[in-house]
Amino acid sequence: MHKSKVFLFNAHDLPRRSGEMKEYSFDIAIPEPIGLDVIAVEAGEAIHVDMRLESVSQGILVSAQIAAVADGTCMRCLEPLEIDLHHRIQELYRYAPDKKVHTKAQRKAAEVDDLDVDEDFMLEGDDIDLEGPIRDAIVLGLPINPLCQQDCPGLCSGCGVKWSLLEADHEHEVVDPRWKALLDLGPEDPNENLDFKN
Ligand SMILES: [Zn+2]
Ligand SMILES: [Zn+2]
Repeated sequence: MHKSKVFLFNAHDLPRRSGEMKEYSFDIAIPEPIGLDVIAVEAGEAIHVDMRLESVSQGILVSAQIAAVADGTCMRCLEPLEIDLHHRIQELYRYAPDKKVHTKAQRKAAEVDDLDVDEDFMLEGDDIDLEGPIRDAIVLGLPINPLCQQDCPGLCSGCGVKWSLLEADHEHEVVDPRWKALLDLGPEDPNENLDFKN
């Protein structure tokens, strides 16, 4: 999958001195949907980003609040639904290693110096690629079984109409219970229980 340029943020105006900070607010119009089959932020939709960049010794610490709207389908009644997404992202983007760390002690110091991050992101020049963290936050935050409401009553199994549109006493004509009993027995025992009388 080719990388999308729309997620690149150029941080050239952030001074590379520890403690320097800048804040940004912008929208990213995504070229491809992000999410699951049943619910996703659709292509062309905007992801709003409120971001703070902070220069630290190893690189740039990115803290962002993202907001977007996901469109999907209720798994019970199949009605379209929308979910407002709000997620927080925090990642350290490291400077590309321009000088190699040679001694064991230096290497160890560099490791101990790590912030508590589980994955390494690398600055590409002045560019911060926000795609991975944004994609992860959105996908992991989506419900696997989206519902229009927690107690969505779903559809009548008899006619497929939404229960919310049906009368409370809505029902379907049931097969005569005696015939049903016979049908349920199946073909294995054709002679059994055939002599039912009132
Ligand atoms: Zn529903
Ligand atoms: Zn029905």
